[in-house]
Amino acid sequence: MHLDFGTLTVAGGLVALVSALLLLFAWTQYDRGAPALRLGVSHLVAAGAIMLLALAAGQDATLLVATQLMFVVAGFLALSAAMSFDGRERIAVLFLTGCAALMLLAAMIAVAVPLAWVRVVQLAIVGMLFLSAGAGLWLGRADKLRARFPLAAIFLMHGTVSFVGFAEGVLQESLASGVPTFGNWYGVIHVESMIYFIGSTLFLVALLKERSEVGYKSASLTDPLTGLLNRRAFFESGDRVLQRCRRSGLPCSVIAIDFDRFKAVNDTYGHAVGDRVLQAFAALAEKHLRPRDVVGRLGGEEFAVVLPETHLREAVEVGDRLRTAFGAATYDVEGKEMQTTLSGGVAVALGDDRTIAEVLERADRALYRAKLNGRDRIEFDAASSSIRVVGKIAS
Ligand code: GH3
Ligand code: MG
Ligand code: MG
Repeated sequence: MHLDFGTLTVAGGLVALVSALLLLFAWTQYDRGAPALRLGVSHLVAAGAIMLLALAAGQDATLLVATQLMFVVAGFLALSAAMSFDGRERIAVLFLTGCAALMLLAAMIAVAVPLAWVRVVQLAIVGMLFLSAGAGLWLGRADKLRARFPLAAIFLMHGTVSFVGFAEGVLQESLASGVPTFGNWYGVIHVESMIYFIGSTLFLVALLKERSEVGYKSASLTDPLTGLLNRRAFFESGDRVLQRCRRSGLPCSVIAIDFDRFKAVNDTYGHAVGDRVLQAFAALAEKHLRPRDVVGRLGGEEFAVVLPETHLREAVEVGDRLRTAFGAATYDVEGKEMQTTLSGGVAVALGDDRTIAEVLERADRALYRAKLNGRDRIEFDAASSSIRVVGKIAS
């Protein structure tokens, strides 16, 4: 099948232009929209290059040279877009390697290397850039954003096709022919480019949207001061964990925690120091708890932990480890050392407990006892066990 060169290039240029405009619009819509700006400018430069190609109609050498350079610039911009999404960008490195690539092509042109070879080198450079962009997106996959994968695939596809063109160019098979057919790379690249422009635009916008939704969702579930789950998220996650334990017939324990005389800490050292202590507790909880434990800030200086697959006695030990570590931490306040303590109450889910709130109510009663009995101790709910006293582990 023969395709009309002019129609293909004009169509490709228009697709690139419209994609660029969509991306520039997306850039204004999202908080961290820099990748859309960069890919938009990349598509804009590519659109310009394709239009020039149509104008040159394969004849004008100067215009053809300009298009080669513009495709390299577009490739660097696309790579910088992919890298900026994960904040991995090194603009200076990209800029310098971009300049080096352009100078290499310029030098080839200056010493009158045939244009076909300039094009072959351009395709190799562009191929590398898009493969790197795809690989870079793949490297950031830990955030589990789904649109990342098709976008990486689109970049990898574009890089691979550029490399195929490079290989074909090296073999000198199709470069002489000005008439693109589907059978050779020169025909394929035009159609593939349109898929690239549309696909990269759609999936980058989808990725920005997905990231912003995940950001809002996690903000609505997280306590901003400590980064722990907030009250609502704690009960949601805790209930899920409790249901899982009930289904498998495993124990599930809850620790309720309240800092001791924390009002005095604030009054004596100031609210900012109090906040630091709250953050220190969050870090300490992260360190001492297992990934499957659920810890949340219920409000003020009150926290709770759900421990799946954990018997009362083990939960008391965990609570006491937290208590000991918290009590041992020292805070530097204007050169003076400050320490503080916490009290905890532990309960285990009983047969008819359907929600974490019910277990927490008993843990809270045990916590109340810990306060009455002198603070800096862990007590447990009597109904949860036949053993009556635990806790401080007091002297
Ligand atoms: P107790 O040992 O009986 O628990 O005494 P307490 O002073 O800790 O009493 P309570 O638990 O009622 O006091 C809670 C205090 O926690 C009140 C407030 O000053 C402090 N607080 C609550 N939220 C925050 C916060 O976000 N930042 C800081 N710095 N302090 C907070
Ligand atoms: Mg308190
Ligand atoms: Mg309190």
